Amino acid sequence: MDTQYYMNLEDQFGAHNYKPLDVVLNRGEGIWVWDVDGNKYLDFLSAYSAVNQGHCHPKIMQAMIEQARKLTLTSRAFRNDQLGLLYKELCELTHSHKVLPMNSGAEAVETVIKAARKWGYKIKGVPENQAEIIVCENNFHGRTIAIIGFSTDEHYKDGFGPFAPGFRVIPFGDIKALEDAITPNTVGFMAEPIQGEAGVIIPPSGYLREARAVCDKQNVVLILDEIQTGLGRTGKLLAEEHDGIEADVTLIGKALSGGFYPISAVLSNTDVLGVFMPGDHGSTFGGNPLACAVARAAIKVLVEEKMIENAVEMGAYFMSRLKKIISPHIREIRGKGLMIGVELVPEAGGARRFCEKLKAGGLLCKETHDNVIRFAPPLIIAKEDIDWALEKIEPVLAG
Ligand SMILES: *Cc1c(COP(=O)(O)O)cnc(C)c1O
Repeated sequence: MDTQYYMNLEDQFGAHNYKPLDVVLNRGEGIWVWDVDGNKYLDFLSAYSAVNQGHCHPKIMQAMIEQARKLTLTSRAFRNDQLGLLYKELCELTHSHKVLPMNSGAEAVETVIKAARKWGYKIKGVPENQAEIIVCENNFHGRTIAIIGFSTDEHYKDGFGPFAPGFRVIPFGDIKALEDAITPNTVGFMAEPIQGEAGVIIPPSGYLREARAVCDKQNVVLILDEIQTGLGRTGKLLAEEHDGIEADVTLIGKALSGGFYPISAVLSNTDVLGVFMPGDHGSTFGGNPLACAVARAAIKVLVEEKMIENAVEMGAYFMSRLKKIISPHIREIRGKGLMIGVELVPEAGGARRFCEKLKAGGLLCKETHDNVIRFAPPLIIAKEDIDWALEKIEPVLAG
């Protein structure tokens, strides 16, 4: 059975809510993936940074298999022996006080919206149903109705209204706009440290530090969505560390399982997650022992195998080489660690055609919006693999 056969199956029986590159993968190992025709590719997307640890990491796999043999799901009606250990390990690693586990990133975002609102009513004293949360233009926080309601991407929203009230949108990276937007009813400010889906948009340096100060002064919960930037991607465990701050609430997901299993987490200080009482929130699969065992192994290998340090080193090397490419198509190259975006000029004809060409050369990348190519390989990538990739990238970008 070849690529066309599987593509036809997907197109005939599946909803068409994605426009994938025409490659059908059936195996992955480390930074490499293989398609059903036996072609090998370097994965330069890492499932939107969910596979920071590389595909099918043997130690995470082992943890998954061992746990799957023992116990997979209890629901939270009962306790399990993996949950508390994951809590403790996550709190120690990220200096958090409390953890609330969910499954997808969007669920973690929904959870923090509930928590911040309840904190606003019960602790800050905001009048009932008046809570406001400030978010940023060009944000990406997921695809549920509440979340797309405060997206500024019309395509994400078109046809899906009506949306939930209680959100205010300000420009990303503009601290004055944040100060001006805060009212007595503001309960939270939520942002991505670097906007990934918007095209690897990096705010002015010190932005998060200033946002931290504003939120402190105004008694507003600072929420950082690190679902994509977290867990080593930008060369720190959490991207907030670049600014030397700690958010009140940090959201992680994606690489929390190294790509084995959907698991996300809300990490917070005691104040915010402390508002949840039994019955306030839940999820059948959230915090299940299989997810917890997988996540424990995924964060362990991230730290023990020095993947974060490698992201710093390889990111700097890759950036320096990319910046040497002379090309009429490139407008800007930007990034931190191994989260790198190459923005093309509008005349380049869109990033998609470059991704198609890179695929033909054995490199899997994905365009974000029309004009940005994102490079985000697994954090285990070695220098010789980057050199190999550059041999393919240079002629495609220069040509
Ligand atoms: C991917 C992502 C989400 C949503 O995660 P899902 O698991 O797809 O629901 C939220 N925020 C950011 C920054 C993301 O990159």
